[in-house]
Amino acid sequence: MSAPVRATIVAANWKMHAPDPGGWLATYDRARGESADSGGSVRSGRGAPRVVVFPPYTLLPGAAAARGGRGDVELGAQNCHWEAEGAFTGEVSVPMAAAFGARWVLVGHSERRHIFGETDETCAKKLAAVLSHGLRPILCVGETLAEREAGRARTVVLTQLTRAADGLGREEYRRLAVAYEPVWAIGTGRTAAPDDAQEMHAAARTALGEIATPELAAEIPILYGGSVKPDNAAELMARPDVDGLLVGGASLDPAGFAAIVASAGK
Ligand code: PEP
Repeated sequence: MSAPVRATIVAANWKMHAPDPGGWLATYDRARGESADSGGSVRSGRGAPRVVVFPPYTLLPGAAAARGGRGDVELGAQNCHWEAEGAFTGEVSVPMAAAFGARWVLVGHSERRHIFGETDETCAKKLAAVLSHGLRPILCVGETLAEREAGRARTVVLTQLTRAADGLGREEYRRLAVAYEPVWAIGTGRTAAPDDAQEMHAAARTALGEIATPELAAEIPILYGGSVKPDNAAELMARPDVDGLLVGGASLDPAGFAAIVASAGK
């Protein structure tokens, strides 16, 4: 049986930081050009990585203008509300983010879950809203250190996954991407061991196969996130169920991010 073709996705989460989008893209392009000149290649059996940048909402228009019509860099929103409009002070809806160029939305990032109290229930509503407006969600799941040390990592991750993504339609599963981001690895400099990441990604794919079908699960990209850097990206990407990377802090350096994208394409 031939290996399934899944998109390779490398995403930049700028969090609440505000690099100049035009300057960031210019440096990224220069660095990508250099890595192509030095022999950067596409991983056999997989397409070139899709790159998605998640700026803060206010930078989406500037990022969309700087990006122009190019197809190699896409834009996404870091969060959304599940309603299209209404009395929800301080919130931004999916159609509003889409009007500013977002084609992807992060759902359930650990900072949303743990700082802002998002639950599996709100994540499920956001995921459904993103899909119903024709955008693509990256559903973030991950265990805390205490949960890992208590031997509950897999249960926590698979519960988050199935509570948000159960019962979707066939075409919706085709637009879903998942990011496994252990909370203890986010912004800490600690990265999951590649074999541990692989084990969790494989378990997540099996769970997706149960709530969707194994064929659909084989198509769903599962990204790893948590202190990804240029020097650990390739080793993570070498694991068969690691289909991409969600990069936070290191994505603020466009040259370093370009190096990570180059590693993902090898
Ligand atoms: C993230 O924000 O999703 C993330 C993984 O952050 P960092 O790369 O800084 O750990």
